[in-house]
Amino acid sequence: MKRCWVEVSLDAIARNYRAVRDAAGPEVALMPVVKADAYRHGAVEVSWRLEQEGAQWLAVSNVEEGIHLRRHGVRARILVMADTVAAGGNAWREYRLTPVVHDLLEIPRVSVPYHLKIDTGMGRLGVRAACEQIARAVAGTPLEGIMTHFASSADYESAQTAEQMAEFERVLAALPERPRWIHQSSTNPVHFGRRAAFGNLVRPGYAVYGYVSKGRSAPEGLLRVEPALAWKARILLVKDVEEGARIGYGAMFRAPRAMRIGVIGAGYADGLPHRLSNKGQVIAAGKKTAILGAVSMDVTTIDLSHAPQLGPGDAVTLLGREGEAQIDATAIARLAGTISYSVLCGISARVERVFV
Ligand SMILES: *Cc1c(COP(=O)(O)O)cnc(C)c1O
Repeated sequence: MKRCWVEVSLDAIARNYRAVRDAAGPEVALMPVVKADAYRHGAVEVSWRLEQEGAQWLAVSNVEEGIHLRRHGVRARILVMADTVAAGGNAWREYRLTPVVHDLLEIPRVSVPYHLKIDTGMGRLGVRAACEQIARAVAGTPLEGIMTHFASSADYESAQTAEQMAEFERVLAALPERPRWIHQSSTNPVHFGRRAAFGNLVRPGYAVYGYVSKGRSAPEGLLRVEPALAWKARILLVKDVEEGARIGYGAMFRAPRAMRIGVIGAGYADGLPHRLSNKGQVIAAGKKTAILGAVSMDVTTIDLSHAPQLGPGDAVTLLGREGEAQIDATAIARLAGTISYSVLCGISARVERVFV
Protein backbone atom coordinates (compact mmCIF):
# COMPACT_ATOMS: atom_id res chain seq x y z
CA MET A 1 0.00 0.00 0.00
CA LYS A 2 1.43 3.34 -1.02
CA ARG A 3 2.17 5.70 1.85
CA CYS A 4 2.28 8.88 -0.22
CA TRP A 5 1.20 9.48 -3.81
CA VAL A 6 -0.15 12.02 -6.28
CA GLU A 7 -3.24 11.56 -8.40
CA VAL A 8 -3.17 13.35 -11.74
CA SER A 9 -6.32 13.88 -13.77
CA LEU A 10 -5.45 13.87 -17.46
CA ASP A 11 -9.04 14.90 -18.18
CA ALA A 12 -8.52 18.03 -16.09
CA ILE A 13 -5.33 18.74 -18.04
CA ALA A 14 -7.25 18.34 -21.29
CA ARG A 15 -10.00 20.71 -20.07
CA ASN A 16 -7.41 23.27 -18.98
CA TYR A 17 -5.66 22.99 -22.34
CA ARG A 18 -8.95 23.68 -24.13
CA ALA A 19 -9.62 26.67 -21.88
CA VAL A 20 -6.26 28.14 -22.87
CA ARG A 21 -6.89 27.38 -26.53
CA ASP A 22 -10.25 29.16 -26.40
CA ALA A 23 -8.73 32.18 -24.68
CA ALA A 24 -5.87 32.37 -27.19
CA GLY A 25 -8.25 32.23 -30.14
CA PRO A 26 -8.20 30.36 -33.45
CA GLU A 27 -5.25 32.26 -34.95
CA VAL A 28 -2.87 31.23 -32.20
CA ALA A 29 -1.21 27.81 -31.79
CA LEU A 30 -0.39 26.37 -28.37
CA MET A 31 2.94 25.05 -27.13
CA PRO A 32 2.17 23.56 -23.72
CA VAL A 33 5.20 23.55 -21.44
CA VAL A 34 6.01 20.11 -20.03
CA LYS A 35 9.42 20.89 -18.53
CA ALA A 36 10.39 19.53 -15.12
CA ASP A 37 8.33 16.39 -15.65
CA ALA A 38 5.31 18.53 -16.52
CA TYR A 39 5.56 20.41 -13.21
CA ARG A 40 5.59 16.95 -11.61
CA HIS A 41 2.37 15.84 -13.37
CA GLY A 42 4.24 13.32 -15.55
CA ALA A 43 5.74 14.63 -18.80
CA VAL A 44 5.17 11.50 -20.88
CA GLU A 45 1.51 10.89 -20.02
CA VAL A 46 0.70 14.60 -20.09
CA SER A 47 2.38 14.98 -23.50
CA TRP A 48 0.51 12.00 -24.95
CA ARG A 49 -2.76 13.50 -23.79
CA LEU A 50 -1.94 16.98 -25.08
CA GLU A 51 -1.04 15.50 -28.46
CA GLN A 52 -4.45 13.85 -28.54
CA GLU A 53 -5.93 17.28 -27.83
CA GLY A 54 -4.14 18.61 -30.88
CA ALA A 55 -0.94 20.17 -29.52
CA GLN A 56 1.60 20.37 -32.34
CA TRP A 57 4.33 21.79 -30.15
CA LEU A 58 5.59 20.98 -26.67
CA ALA A 59 8.30 22.79 -24.71
CA VAL A 60 10.89 21.34 -22.34
CA SER A 61 13.93 22.80 -20.61
CA ASN A 62 16.77 20.54 -21.62
CA VAL A 63 17.87 18.01 -24.19
CA GLU A 64 17.44 15.01 -21.83
CA GLU A 65 13.80 15.92 -21.26
CA GLY A 66 13.28 16.07 -25.02
CA ILE A 67 14.97 12.71 -25.63
CA HIS A 68 12.86 11.16 -22.86
CA LEU A 69 9.67 12.24 -24.61
CA ARG A 70 10.87 10.95 -28.00
CA ARG A 71 11.80 7.59 -26.49
CA HIS A 72 8.23 7.35 -25.24
CA GLY A 73 6.72 7.95 -28.62
CA VAL A 74 5.92 11.66 -28.46
CA ARG A 75 5.75 12.96 -32.03
CA ALA A 76 4.90 16.64 -31.66
CA ARG A 77 7.57 19.23 -32.30
CA ILE A 78 9.64 19.72 -29.14
CA LEU A 79 11.27 23.05 -28.31
CA VAL A 80 14.21 22.88 -25.88
CA MET A 81 14.07 26.22 -24.10
CA ALA A 82 17.00 26.30 -21.71
CA ASP A 83 20.02 24.39 -22.97
CA THR A 84 23.01 25.09 -25.18
CA VAL A 85 23.43 24.02 -28.78
CA ALA A 86 26.66 22.25 -27.85
CA ALA A 87 24.95 20.20 -25.13
CA GLY A 88 22.60 18.71 -27.70
CA GLY A 89 25.30 17.41 -30.05
CA ASN A 90 23.71 15.03 -32.53
CA ALA A 91 20.50 14.79 -30.51
CA TRP A 92 18.95 17.76 -32.30
CA ARG A 93 18.84 15.80 -35.51
CA GLU A 94 18.63 12.28 -34.13
CA TYR A 95 15.64 13.06 -31.89
CA ARG A 96 14.18 15.84 -33.99
CA LEU A 97 14.46 18.42 -31.21
CA THR A 98 14.35 22.15 -31.83
CA PRO A 99 16.90 24.29 -30.01
CA VAL A 100 16.37 27.75 -28.63
CA VAL A 101 19.50 29.76 -29.31
CA HIS A 102 20.50 32.36 -26.72
CA ASP A 103 23.80 33.53 -28.09
CA LEU A 104 24.60 34.80 -31.60
CA LEU A 105 27.90 32.91 -31.49
CA GLU A 106 25.98 29.62 -31.41
CA ILE A 107 24.13 30.27 -34.68
CA PRO A 108 26.88 28.98 -37.01
CA ARG A 109 26.81 25.67 -35.09
CA VAL A 110 23.10 25.02 -35.66
CA SER A 111 22.17 22.95 -38.67
CA VAL A 112 18.49 22.33 -37.78
CA PRO A 113 15.58 24.77 -37.60
CA TYR A 114 15.99 26.85 -34.46
CA HIS A 115 14.21 29.52 -32.45
CA LEU A 116 16.09 32.60 -31.33
CA LYS A 117 15.33 34.00 -27.92
CA ILE A 118 15.67 37.72 -27.40
CA ASP A 119 16.42 39.09 -23.96
CA THR A 120 14.08 42.06 -24.18
CA GLY A 121 14.66 43.04 -20.59
CA MET A 122 14.22 40.03 -18.33
CA GLY A 123 17.97 39.76 -17.94
CA ARG A 124 18.13 36.02 -18.04
CA LEU A 125 18.38 33.77 -21.13
CA GLY A 126 18.33 35.25 -24.62
CA VAL A 127 20.33 37.46 -26.92
CA ARG A 128 20.92 41.05 -25.93
CA ALA A 129 22.50 42.68 -28.95
CA ALA A 130 21.80 45.49 -31.37
CA CYS A 131 19.01 44.80 -33.88
CA GLU A 132 21.34 45.10 -36.88
CA GLN A 133 23.75 42.65 -35.33
CA ILE A 134 20.95 40.13 -34.76
CA ALA A 135 19.67 40.61 -38.31
CA ARG A 136 23.13 39.97 -39.76
CA ALA A 137 23.68 36.87 -37.62
CA VAL A 138 20.42 35.15 -38.64
CA ALA A 139 20.55 35.95 -42.36
CA GLY A 140 20.68 32.77 -44.43
CA THR A 141 20.28 30.45 -41.40
CA PRO A 142 17.38 28.07 -40.60
CA LEU A 143 15.70 30.54 -38.20
CA GLU A 144 12.19 29.21 -37.62
CA GLY A 145 11.01 31.15 -34.62
CA ILE A 146 11.67 34.19 -32.50
CA MET A 147 10.66 34.46 -28.87
CA THR A 148 11.05 36.32 -25.63
CA HIS A 149 9.89 35.85 -22.04
CA PHE A 150 8.38 38.43 -19.71
CA ALA A 151 9.60 39.14 -16.20
CA SER A 152 6.54 40.89 -14.75
CA SER A 153 3.55 39.87 -16.83
CA ALA A 154 1.09 39.68 -13.90
CA ASP A 155 2.04 43.12 -12.64
CA TYR A 156 -0.02 45.84 -14.33
CA GLU A 157 1.55 48.52 -12.16
CA SER A 158 4.85 47.90 -13.92
CA ALA A 159 5.69 49.13 -17.43
CA GLN A 160 8.18 46.31 -17.91
CA THR A 161 5.98 44.11 -20.10
CA ALA A 162 5.12 46.99 -22.44
CA GLU A 163 8.81 47.87 -22.64
CA GLN A 164 9.75 44.27 -23.40
CA MET A 165 7.08 44.05 -26.11
CA ALA A 166 8.35 47.24 -27.75
CA GLU A 167 11.90 45.92 -27.73
CA PHE A 168 10.70 42.64 -29.26
CA GLU A 169 8.91 44.52 -32.06
CA ARG A 170 12.07 46.49 -32.82
CA VAL A 171 14.09 43.30 -33.23
CA LEU A 172 11.35 41.67 -35.28
CA ALA A 173 11.14 44.66 -37.63
CA ALA A 174 14.89 44.54 -38.24
CA LEU A 175 14.98 40.88 -39.32
CA PRO A 176 15.51 40.11 -43.00
CA GLU A 177 12.22 38.15 -42.97
CA ARG A 178 9.49 37.26 -40.50
CA PRO A 179 10.14 33.84 -38.94
CA ARG A 180 7.37 31.23 -39.12
CA TRP A 181 6.73 31.30 -35.33
CA ILE A 182 6.54 34.35 -33.11
CA HIS A 183 5.96 33.79 -29.40
CA GLN A 184 6.19 35.75 -26.17
CA SER A 185 3.45 34.58 -23.84
CA SER A 186 3.40 32.10 -20.98
CA THR A 187 0.22 31.68 -18.90
CA ASN A 188 -0.05 35.23 -17.54
CA PRO A 189 -0.38 37.22 -20.76
CA VAL A 190 -2.98 34.73 -22.01
CA HIS A 191 -4.92 34.85 -18.74
CA PHE A 192 -4.97 38.63 -18.65
CA GLY A 193 -5.77 38.90 -22.35
CA ARG A 194 -2.67 40.76 -23.51
CA ARG A 195 -3.44 39.88 -27.12
CA ALA A 196 -0.67 41.96 -28.64
CA ALA A 197 1.79 39.58 -27.00
CA PHE A 198 0.28 36.36 -28.34
CA GLY A 199 2.07 36.34 -31.70
CA ASN A 200 1.02 33.11 -33.43
CA LEU A 201 2.10 30.75 -30.63
CA VAL A 202 1.76 30.83 -26.84
CA ARG A 203 3.62 28.79 -24.21
CA PRO A 204 1.31 28.00 -21.30
CA GLY A 205 2.51 25.82 -18.43
CA TYR A 206 0.88 26.85 -15.15
CA ALA A 207 -2.65 27.12 -16.60
CA VAL A 208 -2.46 23.67 -18.17
CA TYR A 209 -1.90 22.29 -14.68
CA GLY A 210 -4.83 24.30 -13.38
CA TYR A 211 -3.36 27.46 -11.93
CA VAL A 212 -3.36 31.17 -12.75
CA SER A 213 -1.71 34.10 -11.01
CA LYS A 214 -3.69 36.68 -9.11
CA GLY A 215 -2.17 39.65 -10.83
CA ARG A 216 -1.53 43.11 -9.52
CA SER A 217 -3.97 45.80 -10.69
CA ALA A 218 -4.59 43.36 -13.54
CA PRO A 219 -7.69 43.05 -15.72
CA GLU A 220 -10.07 40.25 -14.88
CA GLY A 221 -8.56 36.94 -15.91
CA LEU A 222 -10.00 34.97 -18.85
CA LEU A 223 -9.10 31.46 -17.82
CA ARG A 224 -11.21 29.11 -15.71
CA VAL A 225 -8.97 26.17 -14.92
CA GLU A 226 -8.82 23.52 -12.20
CA PRO A 227 -5.83 21.95 -10.44
CA ALA A 228 -5.09 18.60 -12.09
CA LEU A 229 -3.03 17.14 -9.26
CA ALA A 230 -3.99 15.92 -5.80
CA TRP A 231 -1.43 14.78 -3.24
CA LYS A 232 -2.30 12.23 -0.59
CA ALA A 233 -0.69 10.33 2.26
CA ARG A 234 -1.77 7.51 4.46
CA ILE A 235 -2.12 7.56 8.21
CA LEU A 236 0.50 5.26 9.73
CA LEU A 237 -0.50 5.56 13.36
CA VAL A 238 -3.19 7.17 15.49
CA LYS A 239 -2.98 7.76 19.22
CA ASP A 240 -4.34 9.80 22.09
CA VAL A 241 -1.99 12.12 23.91
CA GLU A 242 -2.49 13.94 27.19
CA GLU A 243 -2.61 17.67 27.76
CA GLY A 244 0.91 19.06 27.70
CA ALA A 245 2.32 16.30 25.46
CA ARG A 246 5.23 17.39 23.30
CA ILE A 247 5.09 16.58 19.61
CA GLY A 248 8.08 15.95 17.35
CA TYR A 249 11.58 17.42 16.94
CA GLY A 250 12.33 20.35 19.17
CA ALA A 251 8.98 19.94 20.92
CA MET A 252 7.78 22.71 18.66
CA PHE A 253 4.19 21.84 19.59
CA ARG A 254 2.78 21.17 23.04
CA ALA A 255 -0.78 19.83 23.28
CA PRO A 256 -3.02 22.48 24.90
CA ARG A 257 -5.50 19.72 25.81
CA ALA A 258 -5.86 15.99 25.44
CA MET A 259 -5.74 15.28 21.71
CA ARG A 260 -6.00 12.54 19.17
CA ILE A 261 -3.05 12.73 16.78
CA GLY A 262 -2.18 10.97 13.56
CA VAL A 263 1.23 10.34 12.06
CA ILE A 264 1.12 10.45 8.25
CA GLY A 265 3.58 9.01 5.75
CA ALA A 266 4.79 12.22 4.14
CA GLY A 267 7.64 14.53 5.10
CA TYR A 268 10.04 16.99 3.60
CA ALA A 269 11.81 14.19 1.70
CA ASP A 270 8.54 13.81 -0.18
CA GLY A 271 8.45 17.53 -0.85
CA LEU A 272 6.19 18.70 1.95
CA PRO A 273 7.87 21.99 2.82
CA HIS A 274 9.55 21.97 6.23
CA ARG A 275 8.33 25.53 6.59
CA LEU A 276 4.82 24.11 7.09
CA SER A 277 5.95 22.95 10.54
CA ASN A 278 3.36 23.95 13.16
CA LYS A 279 1.70 26.08 10.48
CA GLY A 280 0.37 24.05 7.59
CA GLN A 281 -2.84 22.10 7.25
CA VAL A 282 -4.01 18.90 5.60
CA ILE A 283 -7.53 17.64 4.93
CA ALA A 284 -8.65 14.70 7.03
CA ALA A 285 -12.20 13.30 6.90
CA GLY A 286 -13.27 16.28 4.78
CA LYS A 287 -12.02 18.97 7.19
CA LYS A 288 -8.86 21.03 7.29
CA THR A 289 -6.75 20.17 10.28
CA ALA A 290 -3.43 21.38 11.64
CA ILE A 291 0.07 20.05 11.15
CA LEU A 292 1.42 19.66 14.70
CA GLY A 293 5.10 20.35 15.33
CA ALA A 294 7.92 19.83 12.88
CA VAL A 295 7.46 18.32 9.46
CA SER A 296 10.15 15.63 9.57
CA MET A 297 11.92 13.83 6.77
CA ASP A 298 9.47 10.99 6.28
CA VAL A 299 6.50 11.64 8.54
CA THR A 300 4.36 14.48 9.79
CA THR A 301 2.01 14.64 12.77
CA ILE A 302 -1.50 16.06 12.41
CA ASP A 303 -4.44 16.77 14.68
CA LEU A 304 -7.12 14.09 14.33
CA SER A 305 -9.19 15.10 17.36
CA HIS A 306 -12.13 15.83 15.06
CA ALA A 307 -11.99 12.48 13.25
CA PRO A 308 -12.21 9.47 15.58
CA GLN A 309 -13.33 7.39 12.60
CA LEU A 310 -9.91 7.61 10.91
CA GLY A 311 -7.23 5.06 11.58
CA PRO A 312 -4.05 3.56 10.13
CA GLY A 313 -4.35 2.99 6.39
CA ASP A 314 -6.82 5.81 5.82
CA ALA A 315 -5.76 8.58 3.45
CA VAL A 316 -5.51 12.31 4.10
CA THR A 317 -5.13 15.04 1.49
CA LEU A 318 -2.06 17.27 1.50
CA LEU A 319 -3.07 19.08 -1.66
CA GLY A 320 -6.45 18.74 -3.29
CA ARG A 321 -10.10 18.70 -2.39
CA GLU A 322 -12.36 16.66 -0.13
CA GLY A 323 -15.90 17.97 -0.45
CA GLU A 324 -15.93 21.62 0.58
CA ALA A 325 -12.38 21.61 1.92
CA GLN A 326 -9.65 22.56 -0.51
CA ILE A 327 -5.90 23.15 -0.30
CA ASP A 328 -4.07 24.08 -3.49
CA ALA A 329 -0.41 24.75 -4.24
CA THR A 330 -0.98 28.48 -3.84
CA ALA A 331 -2.30 28.06 -0.30
CA ILE A 332 0.65 25.82 0.65
CA ALA A 333 3.09 28.26 -0.90
CA ARG A 334 1.66 31.19 1.04
CA LEU A 335 2.12 29.39 4.36
CA ALA A 336 5.54 28.06 3.43
CA GLY A 337 6.86 31.40 2.16
CA THR A 338 7.49 30.14 -1.35
CA ILE A 339 5.73 30.06 -4.74
CA SER A 340 3.20 27.52 -5.97
CA TYR A 341 5.40 26.46 -8.90
CA SER A 342 8.05 25.41 -6.40
CA VAL A 343 5.53 23.45 -4.30
CA LEU A 344 4.42 21.44 -7.36
CA CYS A 345 7.93 20.85 -8.71
CA GLY A 346 9.11 20.05 -5.19
CA ILE A 347 6.96 16.92 -4.88
CA SER A 348 9.79 14.44 -4.90
CA ALA A 349 10.45 11.52 -7.22
CA ARG A 350 9.70 8.94 -4.52
CA VAL A 351 6.08 10.05 -4.43
CA GLU A 352 4.35 7.62 -6.73
CA ARG A 353 2.09 9.03 -9.42
CA VAL A 354 -1.22 7.55 -10.45
CA PHE A 355 -3.41 8.75 -13.28
CA VAL A 356 -7.10 8.95 -12.55
C1 LIG B 1 8.30 27.88 -17.85
C2 LIG B 1 8.19 28.75 -19.04
C3 LIG B 1 6.93 29.02 -19.61
C4 LIG B 1 5.63 28.59 -18.96
O1 LIG B 1 5.33 29.47 -17.91
P1 LIG B 1 3.98 29.37 -17.08
O2 LIG B 1 4.00 30.54 -16.18
O3 LIG B 1 4.07 28.07 -16.34
O4 LIG B 1 2.86 29.38 -18.04
C5 LIG B 1 6.90 29.72 -20.79
N1 LIG B 1 8.04 30.19 -21.37
C6 LIG B 1 9.25 29.96 -20.83
C7 LIG B 1 10.46 30.51 -21.51
C8 LIG B 1 9.38 29.26 -19.64
O5 LIG B 1 10.58 29.06 -19.10
